[in-house]
Amino acid sequence: MSDQKPFIDIRHAQKSFGTLEVLKDISLQVDRGQIVAIIGPSGSGKSTLLRAINDLDPLTGGEVWLEDKQINKTLPHRQYEKHINEVRQEIGMVFQHFNLFPHLKVRENVTLAPKMLKGLSDDDANALAEEQLTKVGMIERIDYYPSQLSGGQKQRVAIARALAMKPKVMLFDEATSALDPELVEEVNLVMKKLAEEHMTMIIVTHEMSFAESVCDRVLFMDQGVVVEEGPPEVIFRNPKSERTQHFLRNHL
Ligand code: ADP
Ligand code: MG
Repeated sequence: MSDQKPFIDIRHAQKSFGTLEVLKDISLQVDRGQIVAIIGPSGSGKSTLLRAINDLDPLTGGEVWLEDKQINKTLPHRQYEKHINEVRQEIGMVFQHFNLFPHLKVRENVTLAPKMLKGLSDDDANALAEEQLTKVGMIERIDYYPSQLSGGQKQRVAIARALAMKPKVMLFDEATSALDPELVEEVNLVMKKLAEEHMTMIIVTHEMSFAESVCDRVLFMDQGVVVEEGPPEVIFRNPKSERTQHFLRNHL
């Protein structure tokens, strides 16, 4: 056990959409370099929790911290914009539907944010893009448009684009769910590579064997609560809760 402050610290997260309580007092601490999988049925609040981390779905209660910075702060509008833009630069997010800019080539998709948000020169941004696209195995497609790529390739570019901001943490929300089965592995391999490099990651996934092979911890969520959490070998092989057992019977 380390006595360090958690890298990511979610304290008593509560989120309601109107009268619907979607997150019910969720706390989650993630250490630097840790890889956490979140599993659970559709509608259990996984995406809402992930989106709360960069305040895309601001919580109605509780706190989210990244190192010594509170992310979900109430600030006057201008100050909040500045604060959240800084925070979001440190958090890479990859969604189910690759949201690449369709009118930009792969290169520009990756260089845009480093140039706009960090003021990188063309040369520096290009070097960075080439480095990240090499990492995800997409350097040969640097001058292609997204429409000329397969789903797996698009998702790898989306990962490179997030990595180009040198984030402290990467959040994946069902990054492979929309892909044809034969394209899942190439994206999983990139995520495994990041795991080997000790990138801190929170991964929402339906792929239990992938979660088991890369994650340090697994959280099972249902109806807005963390029902059970633990190391993958315990959650997948010997879950205690009947709800976890039931879910896994249908998903393993
Ligand atoms: P999961 O990712 O586990 O499938 P979500 O976090 O997407 O679950 O959703 C949890 C619940 O919150 C669902 O009942 C969903 O319908 C509801 N929900 C999510 N986003 C909104 C929203 N913007 N407005 C209203 N309800 C929402
Ligand atoms: Mg979701």
